[in-house]
Amino acid sequence: MSLTSLYLLYPLILTIGFGSSSEEHDALPLNYLQVRPGSSSFKIALFADLHFGESAWIDWGPLQDVNSTKVMSVVLDQETPDFVVYLGDVITANNIAIGNASLYWEEAISPTRARGIPWASVFGNHDDAPFEWPLEWFSATGIPHTHCTLPNSSGSGEQECSFRGTRRIELMKNEIKQNNLSYSRNGPKDLWPSISNFVLQVSSSQDPDSAVALLYFLDSGGGSYPEVISSSQAEWFNRKSQELNPSSRVPEMIFWHIPSKAYKKVAPKLGIHKPCVGSINREGVATQEAEMGIMKLLVKRPSVKAVFVGHNHGLDWCCPYEKLWLCFARHTGYGGYGNWARGTRILEITQQPFSLKSWIRMEDGQLHSEVVLSS
Ligand SMILES: [Zn+2]
Repeated sequence: MSLTSLYLLYPLILTIGFGSSSEEHDALPLNYLQVRPGSSSFKIALFADLHFGESAWIDWGPLQDVNSTKVMSVVLDQETPDFVVYLGDVITANNIAIGNASLYWEEAISPTRARGIPWASVFGNHDDAPFEWPLEWFSATGIPHTHCTLPNSSGSGEQECSFRGTRRIELMKNEIKQNNLSYSRNGPKDLWPSISNFVLQVSSSQDPDSAVALLYFLDSGGGSYPEVISSSQAEWFNRKSQELNPSSRVPEMIFWHIPSKAYKKVAPKLGIHKPCVGSINREGVATQEAEMGIMKLLVKRPSVKAVFVGHNHGLDWCCPYEKLWLCFARHTGYGGYGNWARGTRILEITQQPFSLKSWIRMEDGQLHSEVVLSS
């Protein structure tokens, strides 16, 4: 779908060109998306665990990035979503030797950008992980001399090695600065070291002031700091949700990368049985390191319908937990562990009456695991 079919009420001018403190971003007007005129629904694709930039010095590294781009392209062309969420582990920073990891980040978002589809992203545990020196570089074969060349570079544009990594704040600022279609924000400064904390509103096609849904994005940590959603992030969510949706009238959805401990409680034991819905259940849930209050707040709000995470490549189920749903996305990228077939979780938000449906679209075009998460 083209940009013309999507109303971007607050042009991204609001979010670009900043260089000032991130506290000011929190004070900016809420960013709006809108259901297309003539349409009754708003569709979101979740690209999870792409892991761009792995082993750039070996042929299979760049090749798997090409394959990940193909998966995204197939899904975008078949589903024509209104919006894309990059659900963390966009890059594998522990493998990235070049000085500016944003070059890989840009490669990962390029299929979405090329189709004029807006997106937002949250961080995973690999996006700013420190570089891990391969031990074999210290053997007789030595350090490969091509390890600082970008896969798509023309040859003349060799990148400088740094091995220092690119910080979350830099990755996020670069994404926003370089992309008019990015709806990402670096969240309030007082939530540091977490960065990807922000809210977006999906508005009705008839009235931009009428919210159909609120999308909350949280940084679940990992990489340069522990895998946790802090107490101050929980407090921020509490404040924001009270301010934007005091009566809990507007349905809310939550996006972050690493599953909370509640996922472990509802995880199906063998296979996947009702009320859970999904197709792969091939590993244990790898949860955040600690729980600092966010789940308690979520279950107390009747408007919170579902949480969406990535991180576990061998899980793609949704299971109910109290009055909401806990869902995994689907491993989208060829990077990262596991050889399960690649796909993408799709969300469809319908206005008047509200409903939230989801399914998984595979690279080969198959569709499965349809579930109604709220109606
Ligand atoms: Zn992860």
